[in-house]
Amino acid sequence: MEGSRKAAMEGIRRAARAYYDHLPDGERKNATKDFNDMDKNRDGKISLLEYVDYLKKKKATSFVQQSIFRALDKDDNGTLDFEEAIVLFYLMKSGRAIICKGCEKFLAGAYFSCSQCFFNVSVSTYEICCACYRGNNFTHHGDAIFCDNYTLLRQSRSAIQAAPRLTRKRDKAAQILNCSIM
Ligand SMILES: [Zn+2]
Ligand SMILES: [Zn+2]
Repeated sequence: MEGSRKAAMEGIRRAARAYYDHLPDGERKNATKDFNDMDKNRDGKISLLEYVDYLKKKKATSFVQQSIFRALDKDDNGTLDFEEAIVLFYLMKSGRAIICKGCEKFLAGAYFSCSQCFFNVSVSTYEICCACYRGNNFTHHGDAIFCDNYTLLRQSRSAIQAAPRLTRKRDKAAQILNCSIM
């Protein structure tokens, strides 16, 4: 994994650790239980196969991506220990399994998202990594307005504040975004 992705993943790891440390005892026990469920052969580590089996059982198929497993595997030893698995539970809780539509890599850090699709609840969101955005390595509708995830987060705050007006006029949401047009 290249440097910037490593640093971004480190940020997610720290967030996951803080989240875990603040969990009530019961939920922390559940994490241990989930880990043991995943660890079928009870060797204290999760192989890619055990990982995939567990996610299929949990119907969390969006996580069945080698790039997510690799990003979770901090020490690159091909298996996940409990510390690394906590990050998976955190990502599952927060629904943060976002994959670049261009290169299919797990998006750990900053990324771009199509704002029209983001604000349209009837279609799925469309995200690409910075490198794919820069290199035009994706195909999406031609009038797409891409915003980075931090800008979108701020803009959804204004969209929520202006919600009564915007519920019927969805396109307004895109207009108020101060984003670059493709
Ligand atoms: Zn990409
Ligand atoms: Zn779109």
